[in-house]
Amino acid sequence: MAKALLESTPRGLYCAQGDFYVDPWRPVDRAIITHAHADHARWGSKQYLAADTSAEVLRIRMGEKARLDFHPLRKPLTINGVSVTFYPAGHILGSAQVCIEKKGHRVVVSGDYKRQPDSTCLPFEPVKCDTFITESTFGLPIYRWLSSEAVFSGINQWWRANQAAGKASLLLAYSLGKAQRLLAGIDATIGPIYTHGAVEKLNAGYRAAGVTLPETVYVGELDVKETDFSQALIVAPPAAAGTPWARRLGKLSTAMASGWMQIRGTRRRRAMDRGFILSDHVDWHELMQTIGETEAENVWVTHGYCDVVVRHLQEQGLNAQTVATEFEGELLVESSEAQEQPT
Ligand SMILES: [Zn+2]
Ligand SMILES: [Zn+2]
Repeated sequence: MAKALLESTPRGLYCAQGDFYVDPWRPVDRAIITHAHADHARWGSKQYLAADTSAEVLRIRMGEKARLDFHPLRKPLTINGVSVTFYPAGHILGSAQVCIEKKGHRVVVSGDYKRQPDSTCLPFEPVKCDTFITESTFGLPIYRWLSSEAVFSGINQWWRANQAAGKASLLLAYSLGKAQRLLAGIDATIGPIYTHGAVEKLNAGYRAAGVTLPETVYVGELDVKETDFSQALIVAPPAAAGTPWARRLGKLSTAMASGWMQIRGTRRRRAMDRGFILSDHVDWHELMQTIGETEAENVWVTHGYCDVVVRHLQEQGLNAQTVATEFEGELLVESSEAQEQPT
């Protein structure tokens, strides 16, 4: 039944009855997009449809030439007799779950999602469905997030300690989503905040969408030699670490904010002074809680620790299976950001 409404194909998840794909990884005629991260919103399709809350950031990511159509949240739209509705996913600004329905049968493609509060986007709304398609980026019981307040207060302390030691605070985070969540969460009264171009470009999109962010100054607009960064927080994508761009900031302490920071080796390999564990994905407990709330009998698991999650769900009596994806979640976002030139 579920397969009739949505199937996994070499181009991605496809709804034959509606003749559309969701987050396809090859160019198609009609693509429905859950959110603007590079592993979900890929170039080359003829036509895109996304939630209207994603308009500003999706336009920045896809460029002026892409044909983008937007639709409001929670309002069903009929495509070739199939009902399509967007619901907030709580992952980044504009991220949405796609609910596909025909004859009372419902499939929800959640894209990426989180359950922790985030003032830069609408919270995830559980949608009851027959089939729930979920990512499992951090789908191992070892992943358990601290409250974001605790993480932000750790970042504030690190920033103050660096100020006292006369060091700039370079905070690395994905330029779309994580960077803005950090900016909105830290205590902006501590000192000046500067940004890398990749971050500032998306800050503009967030502000245009009505998200409140503290004042930031794009480093590219400064006379860097004349600027004292020793009291400042500088937010940049991970690719900026160790580059000539970062060295211009003077004496500095480097930290990264990511779910991957829970693994000690990641921090060591990346030569970070500090790692702050802050993810825009669900941890194990939130993943299981969310699947329960959807009341889905069928669960398709993508991106990440699929086998562990599928086995666990099958033990709970659910009809769970792995659905192959070409790209591996947040890792791809990271590699695509590595291609952005530090400016
Ligand atoms: Zn994402
Ligand atoms: Zn993803």
